[in-house]
Amino acid sequence: MNDPTQKHKAGLGTRSVWAGEQGERWAGATQVPVALSVSYGYETVEEWLEVALGRRPGHIYGRNTNPTVAAFEDKVRDLEGAEAATSFSSGMAAISNTLFTLLSPGDRVVSIKDTYGGTNKLFIEFLPRFQIQVTLCDTTDHEALEAEIAKGCKVLYLETPTNPTIRIVNIARLARASRSHGAVIVVDNTLATPINQRPLEQGADLVIHSATKFLGGHADALGGVVCGPRDLVSRIYHFREINGACLEPMSAYLLLRGMKTLHLRIRQQNENALQIARFLESHPRVAKVFYPGLPSHENHAIARRQMSGFGGVLSFALVGGLETVKTFLPRLRYAHLAANLGAVETVAGPPATTSHVESTAEERAASGIPEALIRYSVGIEDAADLIADLRQALDGLSGPAPG
Ligand SMILES: *Cc1c(COP(=O)(O)O)cnc(C)c1O
Repeated sequence: MNDPTQKHKAGLGTRSVWAGEQGERWAGATQVPVALSVSYGYETVEEWLEVALGRRPGHIYGRNTNPTVAAFEDKVRDLEGAEAATSFSSGMAAISNTLFTLLSPGDRVVSIKDTYGGTNKLFIEFLPRFQIQVTLCDTTDHEALEAEIAKGCKVLYLETPTNPTIRIVNIARLARASRSHGAVIVVDNTLATPINQRPLEQGADLVIHSATKFLGGHADALGGVVCGPRDLVSRIYHFREINGACLEPMSAYLLLRGMKTLHLRIRQQNENALQIARFLESHPRVAKVFYPGLPSHENHAIARRQMSGFGGVLSFALVGGLETVKTFLPRLRYAHLAANLGAVETVAGPPATTSHVESTAEERAASGIPEALIRYSVGIEDAADLIADLRQALDGLSGPAPG
């Protein structure tokens, strides 16, 4: 079909709206239909076989492929500048399918300590059960990462910015280090989105998203996606079609619809987050703000080089401990206190109940997560309202303000 985004390299806004939308339409529908049908029928066995063998486009059975799901995959694939994409029932399904496809007993994976809590569980609990050796380095210690990569590994697994400590790793530098050792470089790009960061352009092989977060943007559908070269993606797709962690057509539709406003949402969230980070940094009841757009951020220089916007997630530590967090959070008027991020509404919570709910207090401490930390995922509300809300919640904390 005629794909207007391919005529010339259209901008990310145009592609957010149009990419993946050019498939067949039932009764001329302008919107991608939700194909709930589990199976697809053919007039002749010959035609059916051609589709089954991949010699002509089409669908056979919903666990393998589905037209609505395919449209979603194609939109993400286009925005990430990848050759192929395949989708999953959740972000964790995307991550576990990728790792279990690429790794076999005796293999080694190198990663960072600050991966998403569920990913960290795969590294410390599940992969070792299959005799896969996992080495987790301090997230921003690039020398240590390079030294571990040089010892040989099958997969280098990165996430940047990290969740909830918002640390930044240098994708291009580590991709260069891995290339000569033959490792597959995987980057979880959930927090940045392709609007702010495109890891494949910086040397990564595969890029992963929890589509549940910013891609969908409305906190109403779970999903995951992996993008990269066709050979790698089809190996991961093959494992997924067998283990069955496929994306629901209705969820694919909701994610697809959400993605049409991705560039607008991200632009607003980038702007809001920077203003809020600056405000929080100036408040005496805030001990530390973690946001890559602040010059005080330890990896600000890397973030400026590899990101075109600094994203909608920040975290901050209050002066005090978990008790202060318990007083502070319910005072916020414009924030869902919930385990999610990337929605149009502001969402806030401590790591113990959000990103690292699967981890123990000791594991959180080992990841360098302060107990008085609050993860704040900035929505698309007016920044002035969010700042006023944070100000009243901070000013209302009892006790004299620290000097
Ligand atoms: C939420 C999240 C995941 C897991 O995604 P689900 O859709 O909840 O399974 C993975 N990585 C990051 C960075 C996340 O924020």
